[in-house]
Amino acid sequence: MFILLKIIIRVLRSSRFCFILLFLTFIISCSKNQQKTMKEEKPITILVQPFKDIPSEKVQMVTNEIKKVYPYIKILDPIDFPENTYYKERNRYRADSIIKFLSKNAKEGFVIIGLTSKDISTTKGKIKDFGVMGLGFTPGKACVASNFRLNKQNSNEQFFKIAIHELGHTQGLRHCPEKTCFMRDAQGKNPTDEETDFCKKCKQVLINKNWKFNSI
Ligand SMILES: [Zn+2]
Ligand SMILES: [Zn+2]
Repeated sequence: MFILLKIIIRVLRSSRFCFILLFLTFIISCSKNQQKTMKEEKPITILVQPFKDIPSEKVQMVTNEIKKVYPYIKILDPIDFPENTYYKERNRYRADSIIKFLSKNAKEGFVIIGLTSKDISTTKGKIKDFGVMGLGFTPGKACVASNFRLNKQNSNEQFFKIAIHELGHTQGLRHCPEKTCFMRDAQGKNPTDEETDFCKKCKQVLINKNWKFNSI
């Protein structure tokens, strides 16, 4: 009888241990699952939307450069500018109206970048129509980049830098004080030749959004 009691107690103890173990495993697997869903959240796709004026080689070049750091990217068929984006007085296209138009077409999980060789502009402070190289809101569903104002010499590289800067804005990045960072504020000039990469801080924001960098 005594032996039987001992066995029963042992079984009870071990089953309690089992229960605790099971409970712990449950908690650990839950938190692991949570991490998994956070990490495996579907990455957004960048859609490159060329306007009909821009040569396809330029579009391909910018796309290839972006692909080096962000693989989920696709080129759409070229389109005309919507009529309401044209600013006749200066023969320019309004960047803010372009973004508004592209944003309407951006479905959940996508961000669109418009590419053009036409001059684009926006309102800056008191200046009603201020020429820009690109525009993007922070965060945003669409942005636009133009190679109209770039130096002829380095225009391909500069165009990519403008594009990645505007995409950075859509991903939540604001202007960065680092002089060599892609997110530097152009302040009405063209400092792209001094830019070499995203800085450590800006990279970290993008890494959290599935961007890949070989070095930080
Ligand atoms: Zn900017
Ligand atoms: Zn930065």
